[in-house]
Amino acid sequence: MDDRDGLIWLDGQWVAWRDAKVHVLTHTLHYGCGVFEGLRAYHAEKGTAIFKMQEHTDRLFRSAHIMNMPMPFSKDEINQAQKEAISKNNLDSAYIRTMCFYGSEGMGLRADNLKVHVMVAAWTWGAYLGAENMEKGIRIRTSSYTRNHVNSTMCKAKANGNYINSILALQEALSTGYDEALLLDHEGFAAEGSGENLFIVRNGKLYTPETTSALEGITRDTLITIAEEQGLSVTVKRITRDEVYVADEAFFTGSAAEVTPIREYDNRAIGHGSRGPTTQKLQALYFDYVHGRRGDHAEWLTYVA
Ligand code: PMP
Repeated sequence: MDDRDGLIWLDGQWVAWRDAKVHVLTHTLHYGCGVFEGLRAYHAEKGTAIFKMQEHTDRLFRSAHIMNMPMPFSKDEINQAQKEAISKNNLDSAYIRTMCFYGSEGMGLRADNLKVHVMVAAWTWGAYLGAENMEKGIRIRTSSYTRNHVNSTMCKAKANGNYINSILALQEALSTGYDEALLLDHEGFAAEGSGENLFIVRNGKLYTPETTSALEGITRDTLITIAEEQGLSVTVKRITRDEVYVADEAFFTGSAAEVTPIREYDNRAIGHGSRGPTTQKLQALYFDYVHGRRGDHAEWLTYVA
């Protein structure tokens, strides 16, 4: 990732990709206290556009607020950097990573002289869970790792350290032959994937877990809006793993994962063991919206140029 041409925005400057480095005593590298975002830009009908950029920037600031991290840039400055990360790197579709981290001005948990640094990078990134899985669906398993407890890490923050839990779950899933993990909360209810929110479909109705210990996913919000506008009922509630076993359909949502069908969970076929009709419809609508192919919700797209 580091040895390539391009420009990365670091603390207000455009830096050559290979030179966008930090010191080994970077505080966030040691303790994981930082906040970040992952956004996508699509080659839309009228040019390249970032999907729900303001919503991502707002969540970044909420995450920083939760972590008590002072933000050295305004939302407008971050938005401008996110847009320029696309144009300066000549991308027409991209994944954008924005992160705020503490520097190497001090070490130890008590360090209080730390500067907050901000970076924005963008690069081309295909389907997060594999192109063919967008049609075929993925196989997932229940993680042996419990999702972060609401009072141990802050689940509303997209904080770097929260992802230790995600990576443990994902490594376990991959090393045992699955594509992704479903993490349960400390009471045993479905929380989310390692980097995605969960939806199930049963008797034509959609259900998604509360965000008590899951991230307030922006794609989750989009799917709720799209589904309701299609006249589908969406209920936010606690979901047990056996409710997922007997679901007609299931899918994951995320800015990276987009809308990924789940065809099997804990070695049990979901529905017919393939992408279901409701999932297919909502997935197609999602791709229409991110590509600006529908007249409504133009406010979801921020054109780069
Ligand atoms: N949960 C977790 C743990 C995530 O990392 C992500 C990806 N940001 C999501 C859910 C989905 O969130 P969003 O739709 O905002 O990308």
